[in-house]
Amino acid sequence: MTLALCTATISLSALRNNLQQVKKCTGNSQILTVLKANAYGHGMLETANALQTSDAFAVARIEEGISLRAICDKPIIILSGIIGVDAVKACVAHNLQPVIHNLDSWHFIKQHAANLAYWLKVDSGMHRLGLSAEEFAQLAQEKDTHCQGLLSHLSDAECEDTTQTQLQLQRFNALHQLWPELPCSLANSAGVLLHPSSHFDWVRPGIMLYGMNPAKQETAISKNLQAVMRFTTKVVAIHDIPAGESVGYNGRWQASKASRIATLAAGYADGYPRHAKDGTPVWINGASYPLAGKVSMDLITVDVTGSAVKIGDEAELWGEHISANTVADYADTISYALFTGVSQRVPRIYCE
Ligand SMILES: *Cc1c(COP(=O)(O)O)cnc(C)c1O
Repeated sequence: MTLALCTATISLSALRNNLQQVKKCTGNSQILTVLKANAYGHGMLETANALQTSDAFAVARIEEGISLRAICDKPIIILSGIIGVDAVKACVAHNLQPVIHNLDSWHFIKQHAANLAYWLKVDSGMHRLGLSAEEFAQLAQEKDTHCQGLLSHLSDAECEDTTQTQLQLQRFNALHQLWPELPCSLANSAGVLLHPSSHFDWVRPGIMLYGMNPAKQETAISKNLQAVMRFTTKVVAIHDIPAGESVGYNGRWQASKASRIATLAAGYADGYPRHAKDGTPVWINGASYPLAGKVSMDLITVDVTGSAVKIGDEAELWGEHISANTVADYADTISYALFTGVSQRVPRIYCE
């Protein structure tokens, strides 16, 4: 039971289906399920429980790893690296495997926790995190047995133009040859879906587990993904307005004819994107209606002219009928930002 009007319903069966799709796509690769940022807003612990058949989990921050360790025996990898002796101690205490992406932190870890299991990240072209080829070559000579694997990240795997992905693959393969015994990991969801040669020993799917295809291009597998989050709210007011009146802050939307406006209890403080344009679809009672007027903190307004929409009706902001990718396109953002932006005041409700 919840009093909240605006809720995020999370489908556990959709999560499990999406993990099955990853398995279908990657065959023998192991699966490092990405649970960072509270499982992209879906709830880290509940998601981890639903996806227990993953081989390991990845989070961005050490605090996320510590919370996850309380319910999980699988390897947990900290993707964004760690800084300082307290962080190294926490990794040891909670059995977390950090990703090391520069030589200084490698030396620091060897000095403070010589037995800690870790991964090495190389920079294959994104230039965000990762050892240079020369730095990795140095460590490859040592062949430290505590290193669990080699990873790098693709910057353009979802793009139609595959030039950058080819270049990254080529560099990654060349570096791997310096230390061929190391298990390798390169693919994010777009790599899983579109680039089989990026699968290697471990794949790292995130967004596709939450039901979204990060690419415009569809594949047999992407068509089988199911939206996990259903972000819904209720109609709290109905207003009939004459032609020429405008709606919301600064009158961005103006009625060209007599119109009926439904006001819904969801705004940017709930995580509905403030930059959503007029026309962004909202699903109410089996039909799609256009957003009309700027998004407020707690409310949005929708043009329901000619419909029987009434106070108390449920509206889907994204989920089964309106893809989060569609809303993201209307708001010049991506589904990742929508999911992680669903705020704390929105209760997550778990269902099969
Ligand atoms: C977030 C992240 C992923 C998952 O990316 P998706 O596009 O959500 O599949 C994989 N690897 C790293 C290093 C990440 O930070």
